[in-house]
Amino acid sequence: DKVLVSGANGFIAIWVVRKFLEKGYRVRGTVRSADKGKFLEESFKSYGDKFEVFIVEDIAKAGAFDEAVKGVDVIAHTASPFHMNAVSPDELIGPAVNGTVGMLKSAAKNGDSVKRVVVTSSCASVLEIGVDKVFSEADWNELAIREVKEQGDKAPGASKYRASKTLGEKAAWGFYEKNKADLKWDLAVLNPPFVFGPPIHDVKDPASLNTSARAWYDAVLVDGKSKDFLTTQGSAYIDVRDVAEAHVLALEKEAAGGERIIISAVDAARALVPSPIPSHATLPVGYPGIPSKPPVEYDTSKAARILGLKYRSKEELTRDTLADIEKRGW
Ligand code: NDP
Repeated sequence: DKVLVSGANGFIAIWVVRKFLEKGYRVRGTVRSADKGKFLEESFKSYGDKFEVFIVEDIAKAGAFDEAVKGVDVIAHTASPFHMNAVSPDELIGPAVNGTVGMLKSAAKNGDSVKRVVVTSSCASVLEIGVDKVFSEADWNELAIREVKEQGDKAPGASKYRASKTLGEKAAWGFYEKNKADLKWDLAVLNPPFVFGPPIHDVKDPASLNTSARAWYDAVLVDGKSKDFLTTQGSAYIDVRDVAEAHVLALEKEAAGGERIIISAVDAARALVPSPIPSHATLPVGYPGIPSKPPVEYDTSKAARILGLKYRSKEELTRDTLADIEKRGW
């Protein structure tokens, strides 16, 4: 089978590409320029013609993916801006919404062999900051949408990003529900919290890391900076390699069709089926490694049930990320 991965040069996407290649799939990765494709071609040259780069300059443009979807069997749409520095919310909302719906429209129009589309959404579309509850797939981040509506450019950078992911995912489900009777494929959505772990994309220094890996780096290695990040919002996390595995599973597992699925390593112990936790145990929420009541909690039972996803431990993530940082001499 052949997979289309959008934004293939990104932190998460390059791991997704690698995981699919390792599993024997052929992969077409989209990037904005030939120059950005070179690093990928170099990284995956041992796979010969099983990997190809495809240029899509502007994901927000109508019909952007019309050519890219031809001849592929499954699609992983990961491309979407992730940064906290937008001036206008539309800088993020435009590509998030139009890029996602555009991919679905192209798949509907020209994706004759497409069986499933997986969209990389986020827990940003689920979680409402400050609300104390265990969030599940039934939750939507209406708060971020309200904030950007009311405050416009003055809304916090993080809210602009969260609104872009929420509106992007809502638009995807809207298109899918409206058209599904005529579609040959179905939609699955993954909602990860902060994604950490060793980067294998093209980064030359810590400053050029993507937003989440940079936040981890700052919290762990930059004295005094973002000191509390990993015990507050960043306590809800997943290893980038597990996110990649989840994309493969979401495209392979029949039952993932039509589902949005939270994937989060925290509270993974609670989600194991059958539960290894004895009924008399008083396992602290968030075990192991974080305060007994983490500031952000997700119900990850759907991912366990449908994907059977196994999570790397925080120890493994930390060890491998630090080893990578040491190797780079940062
Ligand atoms: P990166 O910034 O590393 O990658 C983003 C990718 O999207 C890049 O290929 C980038 O291209 C592309 N992209 C962004 N904006 C545009 C645009 N306007 N037009 C075309 N391409 C664009 O981010 P991540 O790997 O961290 O994120 C990937 C996906 O995962 C995103 O959808 C993000 O929202 C989601 N996600 C990430 C989380 C995290 O903690 N990292 C958590 C939850 C979800 P270019 O390099 O050319 O800019």
